[in-house]
Amino acid sequence: MFGRVPKKSDNTKFYEVLGVPKSASQDELKKAYKKAAIKNHPDKGGDPEKFKELAHAYEVLSDPEKRDIYDQYGEDALKEGMGGGGSSHNPFDIFESFFGGGAFGGGGSSRGRRQKRGEDVVHALKVSLEELYNGTAKKLSLSRNAICSKCKGKGSKSGASSRCYGCQGTGMKITTRQIGLGMIQQMQHVCPECRGSGEMISDRDRCPQCKGNKVTQEKKVLEVHIEKGMRDGQKITFEGQADEAPDTITGDIVFVLEQKKHPKFDRKFGDDLYVDHNLSLTEALCGFQFALTHLDGRQLLIKSNPGEVIKPGQYKAINDEGMPHHQRPFMKGKLVIQFHVIFPESGVFSPEQCRKIESILPMRPSKHLTDMELDDCEETTLHDVGAEEVKRRKERQHRHREAYDEDDDDDESAPRVQCAQQ
Ligand SMILES: [Zn+2]
Ligand SMILES: [Zn+2]
Repeated sequence: MFGRVPKKSDNTKFYEVLGVPKSASQDELKKAYKKAAIKNHPDKGGDPEKFKELAHAYEVLSDPEKRDIYDQYGEDALKEGMGGGGSSHNPFDIFESFFGGGAFGGGGSSRGRRQKRGEDVVHALKVSLEELYNGTAKKLSLSRNAICSKCKGKGSKSGASSRCYGCQGTGMKITTRQIGLGMIQQMQHVCPECRGSGEMISDRDRCPQCKGNKVTQEKKVLEVHIEKGMRDGQKITFEGQADEAPDTITGDIVFVLEQKKHPKFDRKFGDDLYVDHNLSLTEALCGFQFALTHLDGRQLLIKSNPGEVIKPGQYKAINDEGMPHHQRPFMKGKLVIQFHVIFPESGVFSPEQCRKIESILPMRPSKHLTDMELDDCEETTLHDVGAEEVKRRKERQHRHREAYDEDDDDDESAPRVQCAQQ
C-alpha cells in the first residue's frame, strides 16, 4: 500500500448495483439496499450472487472512509488494503443487521439461522380459448392457514412458551431398545408431547382463538387476471399467499392455465389459429364466400379471389387475425384456414350430365388408350376398401410372414431341402 499509486479503476459499479446516483446520501443508500436486498433474498427465491453483490456494495458505500477510497481509486484499491480489509463479511449478517433476522414477518430467528420456506400451492385453472383471446378476470375463493390474529402466532395468551420437557426443545425423541445380545436399536421419532415444535404451552395459557395451533383457517378471495394472449401451461403467481406458519417464509399460490379444447379453433405455433372449413366441389372450382365468427364475436367475411380454384387440403391465411401476443396484444398471429373439398356422391351424375361436365373440364387422359393397348391389358374390378378390411389384411400379412420365417429356420436346419434347391 506504500510507494505505489493505485491505478484508477471502475468506481461506479457499486452505485449501479444499488441503483443510486453517485451523490446519494447515506439515507438513500440505506433505503436502496433495503429494498433491493428484500427483493433478492435467496429465501425469497432471489439470486444468491446478486444478494452478495448488494451486500458488498452497501458495505463499502456505507463506510465513509471506504466510500472515499472507492470514489477516488475504485474497487481494486479496496482489495489492495487501503480500506483496511476487503469484504469478508457474510451477506446474511449485513442483511440481518438491518432487520434483526425477522425480515419476513416470522420473527425470532436467531442470527445466522436461515428461515425455512413454506410450500407453494399449485392449482390448475381451466380457461377457454375465448378467455385467452379476450382476456378476463376470475375471482377464486381459497381457504388457507393464517397466523392467528389473536396471539400473533405465539399460540399462548401471555406470549410465553416454555421448552418441551419431553424432548428438551428439539422436537425429536430418541428411544433405545435391546433387540439381541449386545445389540441396541436406536429410533428417532417426533416428540408426541409437543408434536415436533419443541415447545409447550400450558393448558391455561392456550390462545382461545387458535387453541394453541398458532394458525387459523382463513377464507381468501383472489382475483386472477388472465391477460390477452396468455397460453396453455402459463403460470400466474401470487407471491407469499400460501399457508402461513410461524417462523416460515410464506410460499406462493401458483395458478397454471389449462386451455380447454375449442370446438372450432386450434392454437398452433405460438399465436397462429387454425380452423377447418368444408367447401362443396362447386365452391372449390367456381369460388365461395362465407362468414366466420371469431373468438370475440366479430363476423369475418372470407371469400376466394376471382378465378381461384381451391385444392383439397389447401391452406390459406389471414394476417393479424390469430391470437394476440401476450403483453403486446395489438400484435396478432395468423388465422390459417384449411379447406376440405366435399365431392359429390357416386351416381349423382347422369351420362348426359357427365358429357356436359366433360365439355367444360379438361379432357380425360384415359380416353387416349388405343385399341391395341387395350387388347394387351387384363380386365380388373375396383372394390371399395374400408378401414376394417385394411386392418384385417395387414394382420393376415403379418401372420403369413411369421409362418414363413419359421419355415425359413426349418430350412436352415434341414440340409435335405437345401440340396433340393441347388
Ligand atoms: Zn417435545
Ligand atoms: Zn392464537
